Amino acid sequence: MQLKRLEMKRIVVKVGSHVLSQDGELARDRIANLVSFLADLGEKYEVILVSSGAVAAGYSKLKIDRYTLGNRQAIAAVGQPYLMSIYAKELSSFGILSAQILLSASDFDSRKRTKHAKCAIDTLIKNGVIPIINENDATDIAELVFGDNDQMSAHVAHYFDAKELIILSDIDGYYDKDPRVFEDAVMKKRVEVIKASELEIPAVSNGTFATGGIVTKLKAAKFLLDNKKEMFMASGFDLRDVRSYFLHGEHLGGTHFKGRTL
Ligand code: ADP
Repeated sequence: MQLKRLEMKRIVVKVGSHVLSQDGELARDRIANLVSFLADLGEKYEVILVSSGAVAAGYSKLKIDRYTLGNRQAIAAVGQPYLMSIYAKELSSFGILSAQILLSASDFDSRKRTKHAKCAIDTLIKNGVIPIINENDATDIAELVFGDNDQMSAHVAHYFDAKELIILSDIDGYYDKDPRVFEDAVMKKRVEVIKASELEIPAVSNGTFATGGIVTKLKAAKFLLDNKKEMFMASGFDLRDVRSYFLHGEHLGGTHFKGRTL
C-alpha cells in the first residue's frame, strides 16, 4: 500500500460555488456525485480537494445580506464547518477520512509556511486522508472578493507537487468566446498557450456566489503552464467528461491545458 502510494501521481480537484450550491442551498446531490468521483479518483491518484462554497453553505443557515464584505466573512465562518461536516459524512460512506486545511494567499509567499503546509498535506495523504483546502475567508478576503479559489488551487497544485489541477465549473470547458452570450461559441479541447489578450476579458460571473469567472481560471492555467504543469477544466454538474478523462483515459469533453513540450 505504502509502495503503491509512492508511485501515485498527485492531483488537485477544485470545485466552484456554482457547482456546490443551488438557489441559496447546498446542492447535496452534486456534492454526493463529486465525493463519489473523488473516491474513484483516489484509486489511481493522490487527491487533494480545494473547495469553495463556504458562503453558499453559510447562507443556507444565516440569511443576512451577503453583499457586504463583513457579512460575507461571517457567513463563510458559519458555512465552512457546515460544508466540512457534509464532506466528512459523504466521504465516510466510502471509508475515507477528510481533513480541513485553511490557507491564505500569503501562505504561498513564505517558503517556510508553504513547507509546513506541505508537510501536513503529505502526511494526511500518506495516511489515506483527503485534505480539503479552502481559503481562510474570515481573515483573508482576496478570494472572497475576486478569485473563488481558482488562483489558490493553482498554487496548491504547484507548491504541493501535484501533476495536474482539475477545475470543476458550471461550464464544461473553455470556449473561444463566452458560450452564454454567443451561440456559435466552440469549446477548445486542448490549449497549449494562453495569450495576454485572453486574460483581459472582463471577469464576468453569472451567479450570486461565484466571483471567479473565466479569467481567473485562465490565470490559474497560465501559472500552471508556466510551471510545466497541466490543468483540466470540465463540468462539475455532469461529471462524465472528467470521469472519462481521468478514470478511462478518454477525452470526450472538457479543456486540457498542457504545454507543447510536456
Ligand atoms: P465557477 O463558479 O464554476 O468557478 P464561474 O461562473 O465563476 O465558475 O466562471 C465560469 C463562467 O465564465 C461560465 O459559466 C461562463 O458564463 C463564463 N465565461 C466567459 N467567457 C467564457 C469562455 N470563453 N469559456 C467558458 N466560459 C466563459
